Amino acid sequence: MTKTRGSGFGARASELAAIGRRFYARGWVLGTSGNFSAVLSRTPLRLAITSSSLPKGTLRASDILECDEHGRVVSKTKAKPSAETLLHVEIAKRRGAGAVLHTHSVWSTMLSDAWASGPEATLAIEGYEMLKGLAGVTSHEHRVIIPIVDNDQDMPRLARRVGDTLDRHPAAHAFLLRRHGLYTWGATLADAERHVEILEFLFETIGRTGGKPSWQ
Ligand SMILES: [Zn+2]
Repeated sequence: MTKTRGSGFGARASELAAIGRRFYARGWVLGTSGNFSAVLSRTPLRLAITSSSLPKGTLRASDILECDEHGRVVSKTKAKPSAETLLHVEIAKRRGAGAVLHTHSVWSTMLSDAWASGPEATLAIEGYEMLKGLAGVTSHEHRVIIPIVDNDQDMPRLARRVGDTLDRHPAAHAFLLRRHGLYTWGATLADAERHVEILEFLFETIGRTGGKPSWQ
């Protein structure tokens, strides 16, 4: 471990790698898809984040690197951070999240393909007991709004779009990138992992039953 690494890097790296292996086993991050991060410090902002283009089923702690608030690598490594690092930085800043997790599941991809497009597209879910696994939700009657953001390969532009979306939906626990996947977060890695499990359960339930979430 180098001096530049934030406190707790080793532990966070091991946890992120273990999450990657678990998510791969669930079919949520096949191929080299998905990326995961945990905040190491706020001032300055430092993230432990997955390296780019790695299979998640065999992810190890040594595949995690440290980046700054601009997505630049600060640990001594030749590896590149995930291509979507700027999105993690944006969420960590805007939401004060302690961890950000991104999956490419079949169900999240299908449900993200809403009829409506543009900055106001959302998926609303209500009436499911599993919603209570989301932070602050205490009743199945709670209506959860998940914004759908159009995908983009221009990461600075996509990060700005995500930032605007987060500002428009201050209560959102997650957002979907259209035909791409899910981003969710939490105060801790455990909270963020629970959010992925809850949301993937809900997406699959809705998808398998032909349920009727409302796209707006
Ligand atoms: Zn992705």
